[in-house]
Amino acid sequence: MRMRSGASSAAGERFCMSRWTEIGQEKRCITCGEYWPADAEFFEAAKKTRDRLSPRCIACIVEKTWSSVLVAAR
Ligand SMILES: [Zn+2]
Repeated sequence: MRMRSGASSAAGERFCMSRWTEIGQEKRCITCGEYWPADAEFFEAAKKTRDRLSPRCIACIVEKTWSSVLVAAR
């Protein structure tokens, strides 16, 4: 019988949420959870994602908030 070690609830990459507002499309940062305009000014360009924007806002990338989150999640 196998046992799972640790909490392996593979944090899905399905957080890429976006919505349309009066000013246009907004995208939710997976790190801070805030909505920002889906725009290169707020999200880094990324080729791997469908909308070609990084799932994290530039502010989080600059502050590397996500790396500390990952460490804390261990
Ligand atoms: Zn953010």
